[in-house]
Amino acid sequence: MTTFAIVGASLAGLSAASTLRRGDADASIVVVDPATELPSDRPPLSKQVLSGEWEPDRAHQPLANKVGDLGLDLRLGTAATVLDVAARTLSLSDGTQVVSDGIVLAMGASARSLPGPALAGVHVVRELADSLALRSELDAGPSRVGVIGAGFIGAEVAATCRERGLDVTMIEAAPTPMLRAFPEQIGAFVADLHRDHGTDVRLGVGVAGLIDGGDGRVAGIGLADGTTVDADVVVVGIGVTPNTGWLDGSGLDLSNGVVCDSSTLAAPGITAAGDVASWVNEHFGEAMRVEHWEHAIEHGEAAAARLLGGDPSAVPFLSVPWFWSDQYDLKIQMAGRPSGDDELHLMEGSFEERRFVVAFRRGDRCTGVLGVGRPRHVMQARMRLRESLDWAPIAELLT
Ligand SMILES: Cc1cc2nc3c(=O)[nH]c(=O)nc-3n(C[C@H](O)[C@H](O)[C@H](O)COP(=O)(O)OP(=O)(O)OC[C@H]3O[C@@H](n4cnc5c(N)ncnc54)[C@H](O)[C@@H]3O)c2cc1C
Repeated sequence: MTTFAIVGASLAGLSAASTLRRGDADASIVVVDPATELPSDRPPLSKQVLSGEWEPDRAHQPLANKVGDLGLDLRLGTAATVLDVAARTLSLSDGTQVVSDGIVLAMGASARSLPGPALAGVHVVRELADSLALRSELDAGPSRVGVIGAGFIGAEVAATCRERGLDVTMIEAAPTPMLRAFPEQIGAFVADLHRDHGTDVRLGVGVAGLIDGGDGRVAGIGLADGTTVDADVVVVGIGVTPNTGWLDGSGLDLSNGVVCDSSTLAAPGITAAGDVASWVNEHFGEAMRVEHWEHAIEHGEAAAARLLGGDPSAVPFLSVPWFWSDQYDLKIQMAGRPSGDDELHLMEGSFEERRFVVAFRRGDRCTGVLGVGRPRHVMQARMRLRESLDWAPIAELLT
């Protein structure tokens, strides 16, 4: 009997499990995860769970549904600790080993924290427990929430806190929010959106350190320009680190998460997917590591299909990444993979109305389409981008 092993029982790992089961009804599929219960779906953690609109159980549902009746050998409370690449063997934290015909690495990523001693009142938002711990502090009515980092997690948490009626300061070292991903006009739009909702947005200033109130609890944030921001609750949203520490010394390339070829293969019989994995996306002609919900599903499916198909049928995993973000009453959606250097073209609507579609251009290529309050346009553009990144057909579609 064939044995597959999956490391990580979250979105990418369980999507891989479902594809493996469809492809091989008899295989043994071992899934390991140190979490003692199935991880929760993550998007509601900075939105509905944090706001109090959803009870935590609801965030568990999507992954519980995925497990369904797949007949998995699901080993929760068990981490993979060592990988023998040549023997395709995993050593586990319970002292056992799994020898397998194929392995999917889907360990996701962990939220980065600030250096320095831990202070009460300082939070990250990655796990359900993080969101609930922050929610209970918000329930107590802090006098001011400081959010460090204006990427998607920071911006969503800031918006949720403002919608709860709390005073919020959002601090970002770059001149505009999300500059790594978008040209500055989009960041400026996001900054204006937050300011109009009463968030104090501080841009272009780094954080020097957290201020200890003297009782082991945070009292504020010291900024690099010498000023301080009072805050009795602080949320740190400064990105993530792929969970690859346990693979040090395995021989895998870990220079950008688990580095894979275009077919998601990290080594013979070993694939990787989701937040932890980078691969060569031949559709864009570049290596990328994507941290989006739907991507984790598609990537998990592709990594599993790669193991099922074997080398002769290896095909590249071609992807047009897609994500959404909810901030205040706006839904921001994007298809593609633009960078901060791309040209921005307004295709429809206006920034003032807060309903618009922009397309990003690099030479003759369209690298992405972003819409605010325009889901249909983004979906159509995504389909077109899947066919080709040529600028002309996208421009024609959107104008
Ligand atoms: C607060 C928040 C809000 C988000 N909102 C959005 C959104 O609005 N839109 C969007 O597109 N995306 C959003 N995302 C991103 C999206 O949720 C992630 O991209 C997705 O969850 C990644 O899934 P994954 O399975 O790759 O990794 P993860 O969900 O991180 O799962 C990895 C699993 O691997 C396990 N693991 C780690 N190490 C080991 C080990 N050694 N052995 C065994 N198991 C291990 C972990 O315990 C974990 O369960 C959000 C993310 C967060 C945190």
